[in-house]
Amino acid sequence: MPTAVRSTDLPPARPPPPDMDVDEDDDFELDKAMAGVEEARLQALDTSDPMVLLSYYRHLLPWKNIFLWLNRDVEGANMASTSSPGASRNFTHREFAFTLANEAYLRYNSYATWQELKRDVLRLNPQRFEIGPVYSAKPKDRKTVQKTSFKPVSREVVFDIDMTDYDEIRTCCSGKGICKRCWGFIAVAVEVLDQALRLDFGFKHLLWVYSGRRGIHCWISDEEACTLPDDARKAIVGWLEVIKGGASAVKKVNLAGSSTSARQLHPSLRRALDGSVDAVDGASDGPLKRAFVDIVLKDQDVFRDATGYNRLLALLPSVETEAIARLKSNWDAQPARSSLDKWQDIMTIAAKAGEMRARTTWRPAMEDIILQYTYPRIDAEVSKHMNHLLKAPFVVHPATGRVCVPLDPRQIHQFDPDSDAPTIGELFRDLNAAQKAGEVDDGAALKDNPTAWEHTRLKPFVQRFERHCSAIVRQTREAKRGQALDTMDF
Ligand SMILES: [Zn+2]
Repeated sequence: MPTAVRSTDLPPARPPPPDMDVDEDDDFELDKAMAGVEEARLQALDTSDPMVLLSYYRHLLPWKNIFLWLNRDVEGANMASTSSPGASRNFTHREFAFTLANEAYLRYNSYATWQELKRDVLRLNPQRFEIGPVYSAKPKDRKTVQKTSFKPVSREVVFDIDMTDYDEIRTCCSGKGICKRCWGFIAVAVEVLDQALRLDFGFKHLLWVYSGRRGIHCWISDEEACTLPDDARKAIVGWLEVIKGGASAVKKVNLAGSSTSARQLHPSLRRALDGSVDAVDGASDGPLKRAFVDIVLKDQDVFRDATGYNRLLALLPSVETEAIARLKSNWDAQPARSSLDKWQDIMTIAAKAGEMRARTTWRPAMEDIILQYTYPRIDAEVSKHMNHLLKAPFVVHPATGRVCVPLDPRQIHQFDPDSDAPTIGELFRDLNAAQKAGEVDDGAALKDNPTAWEHTRLKPFVQRFERHCSAIVRQTREAKRGQALDTMDF
């Protein structure tokens, strides 16, 4: 997130450049501009052209679904207000923050309707925008209310997983790079977190959104989640945070254990390792063990070079000095020995150590290693506070041009960020092709078409989002009906 420049530090409504003066009621200028975005230009660029971004906001971003998703209801508290039919406080008191092309960061914006939000986005043409909490008062009016009474009251529980935290355990890419291979680390993180959040916490409405480059966000919209105070959010993070200590720590997993008996892992971790909470030690494979073999040992071959295997040796039980020294001299003598073979060496030594030492010393250390190399590495700070701002779904990543699309956690392993995330340039090429084929009318008709995305590769992603929003709205209605029945039941 850029350094926060509060909107109070800036002119409140900076006048947009004249050629971007677009108003919902006056589309003429935009259509003229849109006509100027000729195909050659679209072919050449995917990212930074402000007119292309503006057209994306105007024609393709699914505003109404963003509204439904945040509002969580269609018949809100203030139906009486004709200006905002259906908008509840979940929307009208919600903070939106904009990052403009000049890096200015405008916070505390709020809107009565999604049309108003869209109009402001078209006026500002931000590089991206972020979503914050629902406040006790409308964020834009915060100066008119007492400081102490302006506070966040509700917010989706969010998680952020970023490839940055995997740099020391991936060998295929570094820095800002990402490929299908290292996406595997993100995929297993999603698989395990999704399961823990549903099974251990009972959450149902999870939205996983590709961050546009090399990470993923999760938004939980269950009513029970949204109203959790910060200390409850911290408790959830504490439960889910297994990898700790940052880049400098050698051993990042420190689970309570015993030196004399087999340790009891908490059921969520046992399920992630072995596939079932009742699994007998090592009897079956869960997502983490599978990922350890497939990704860490076979694909990434993390322990092949000296840096990799010395790190592994440092994680073995320190009391086993003799065994560790033997492994080290063997591996130093065979520089080409694969990670899979090295892990096999460790298993062989552990098996020969006798049942007691295998159970109390070797197995816990090996499980900790598997966890350290595969368990989700979450950015804990993002999840701990209600008022943390997070990039909205369907915005465009300014560096890659990729749209932050919702993903299906059940198909997360198949996703390839390089080829499956639509770029803004591809979307307009799709739209141009549809126009040429006569499927969509020219630009003039487009402006009244709220589902222009249907003619682009954005379609399956918006449809997934629509289904997600419908389920949330249905839940809210059912809860209300339940409440109404309760009040009649005296
Ligand atoms: Zn990679």
